[in-house]
Amino acid sequence: MTDWLVVGAGVAGSVVSARLAAAGAIVTVVDAGPATVTGDDLFAALAVTDRVRSTPLVRRVEGGPLVPYTSGVGPGGGSAVNGSIMSMSGPFRHRHSIPFEVVERVVRSTVNGHRVDTWAAYHGPSSLAMDRLVLSTPVESLLVDSRRCVGVRTESGEELFADRVVVCAGAIMTPTLLLRSAIGGPAVGVGLQDHPAVALVHGVRSSLGSTGPSISTLERVGPIQIMHLRRLGPAGDDSSVSGLGATVVMLMRPESRGSVRLDHEGYPAVSFGIGSVDADIERLSGGVSEILGEGLAGDIVDAPRGDTVEDWVRERLATAVPVVTHAASGCAMGSVVDRFGRPDGVENLYVVDASIFPAVPSVNPMLPTVQLSETMVDRWLAAGFV
Ligand SMILES: Cc1cc2nc3c(=O)[nH]c(=O)nc-3n(C[C@H](O)[C@H](O)[C@H](O)COP(=O)(O)OP(=O)(O)OC[C@H]3O[C@@H](n4cnc5c(N)ncnc54)[C@H](O)[C@@H]3O)c2cc1C
Repeated sequence: MTDWLVVGAGVAGSVVSARLAAAGAIVTVVDAGPATVTGDDLFAALAVTDRVRSTPLVRRVEGGPLVPYTSGVGPGGGSAVNGSIMSMSGPFRHRHSIPFEVVERVVRSTVNGHRVDTWAAYHGPSSLAMDRLVLSTPVESLLVDSRRCVGVRTESGEELFADRVVVCAGAIMTPTLLLRSAIGGPAVGVGLQDHPAVALVHGVRSSLGSTGPSISTLERVGPIQIMHLRRLGPAGDDSSVSGLGATVVMLMRPESRGSVRLDHEGYPAVSFGIGSVDADIERLSGGVSEILGEGLAGDIVDAPRGDTVEDWVRERLATAVPVVTHAASGCAMGSVVDRFGRPDGVENLYVVDASIFPAVPSVNPMLPTVQLSETMVDRWLAAGFV
């Protein structure tokens, strides 16, 4: 029986490991993070600090300042800390194990209002012996012997061996691991994308009583997606609550691209190149102008005033900590990996996660990443690899 090692227990790693184990493979999963329980709500989950990484610092625009970039670590990866919000447009409705619920008119991966991350959706009740889930163990590089991948080296120097290795470390760390291991050729790390997004921040007041720290709604108009977030404080004497609201305007079909490279110490040097195509800024600014035309509720805390929308958008894209972290495409299928997720020149190695999308999905990326992973395992099974 073939022994598989999956690097990363995030969205893709959850699906791949569960499907391989269900097919009878011996599967070990290694992840950089712990299994600390996270909350159902986006803000509550992001407060569980050992499940969240804000490194590496990244440049959103070419030559811009370094800003933190949030990702999730541990079982479920991004899905354990994210908004768990699905866009229901797009060709992504076929088979998967993710539960759906409509909460406040938004489709979420929850059951009775409680988050179900991809690890829980695919492994509970577990299809993988828990001693085969190795946590808090960052992988440093891949081990290659005579053009065959034979395992991984962890940051503590331990070597873990397997017949086949699947890298599911996410859109920034997967190209980083390939670059460190000199695998995949010159296209590795090239073409990185994200959904450019800005947050119009304003005060909110509600007489609904406290309904939890955040409420989101989602709308789509052509290439623009608009998400409304509210973070309400405790109820006051009159049982009304006040707090901050953010109307997040996102461009879902950007053309701008950046890259993941290695710095001289082997750490990821990331630039998203956002706004390198002027049309992206124009489309996003158009979306912002429409929202402003409709008027923001409450006192404006941070939004463009007058006719400076495009300048404001450029400045916020470059300097603000991103409200949307949907990185994709640094190991694109077609240029770095083939239709089975295999990089050229190394056997027994597969890459499956948001890094292999040729472009960032034009919808929220969690469900497309699940579908991609399902499709990939289907292909491996059909080809007799498992
Ligand atoms: C705060 C936040 C909010 C988001 N909101 C939404 C949303 O509402 N809807 C939506 O569709 N998408 C959302 N996303 C995006 C979505 O979560 C990601 O697109 C998705 O998680 C990508 O899946 P992945 O498998 O490529 O990577 P991940 O899910 O990030 O998984 C990568 C895994 O690899 C592990 N790893 C990384 N490096 C190493 C290493 N060196 N060694 C071992 N393990 C490693 C990590 O610990 C992690 O578990 C959000 C993301 C964030 C961070």
